Amino acid sequence: LGVVEEGGGKIAVNASEGRLALGLDIGGSSVKTALLDLDGASRPETINTDLFHLDQSREPGLVVDELARITDKLRAEYGPVHSIGVGLPGMFDESSGTPTLLPNFPLSWRGYPFRQSVEEKLGQRICLVNDAKAFSVAESVVGSAAGLGMVVCIVLGTGVGGGVVQGGKIWKGLGSAGELGHLTVELDGPPCGCGNNGCVESFAGSAAIASFGGKASVQEVFTAAAMGDVAAQASVDRAIKALGAGLANVFITLAPDTFVVGGGVAGAGDQLIGPLEAEIRRRVHVAPGTDIRVVPGSLGRHAGAIGAALMGADQQPERP
Ligand SMILES: [Zn+2]
Repeated sequence: LGVVEEGGGKIAVNASEGRLALGLDIGGSSVKTALLDLDGASRPETINTDLFHLDQSREPGLVVDELARITDKLRAEYGPVHSIGVGLPGMFDESSGTPTLLPNFPLSWRGYPFRQSVEEKLGQRICLVNDAKAFSVAESVVGSAAGLGMVVCIVLGTGVGGGVVQGGKIWKGLGSAGELGHLTVELDGPPCGCGNNGCVESFAGSAAIASFGGKASVQEVFTAAAMGDVAAQASVDRAIKALGAGLANVFITLAPDTFVVGGGVAGAGDQLIGPLEAEIRRRVHVAPGTDIRVVPGSLGRHAGAIGAALMGADQQPERP
């Protein structure tokens, strides 16, 4: 395809061998990577995953340098990559590629020309994606909901994110579709960071579960609940009730093929998945209970990077 001028550097773009899709998922303490081969098999094949620890300051310039170092290392090993998707744990302006809200990162990220800086350093266009949306696409295309038509994913961490995926594509609506953490489940409930009251996140975010359960972390709450701690179990029940109410409303609206649960809190497994499915079924009376299915994600900690790679590959032709 010739040579593309970008960011001062020249990159050869070769259609016959440029079928590798790279995903870079920026988390609180590390960058996880996934390299996918989009040729050959009908399903994308993950050929490499890795994890790189981030400098503790997590200043945006240092993170950009780290992304460039990682990408160069992978290019040296596997050759040119056709597309790059970068997952961010928060919100950003789509047109400028500038972060607007990254709750667990330094304030210096806000307004930082992130996409432009990364593209200049890498000498290649990138696609910026939200990490929960990336998880959702990965689990819907190659994970536990692979091949299903409509999938609703919920990602339980410090915040509660989500994504609606139809036919392997994220449903954006006007842009903000799928922010399931901010469904109202208690009319005059506790205030949420978003400005509303009674959001799912105020009950089912990891900080909410930990503090209501009287423990330092959400893992301690689930461990204590499993051993019969009444206060811990009450916090787990409260989170499941809020999630169940929110997802019941989503089921009534969309009737998706399945819900997929991911994120740190999802590590609770059986303490969460079965009771959550039961809670949604208890509230939905417009469809047979067997229509309602909740499954854990199957791709583990690299789901976000795999999804970023898939979304990057998808978006590639749309940007000139
Ligand atoms: Zn909210």
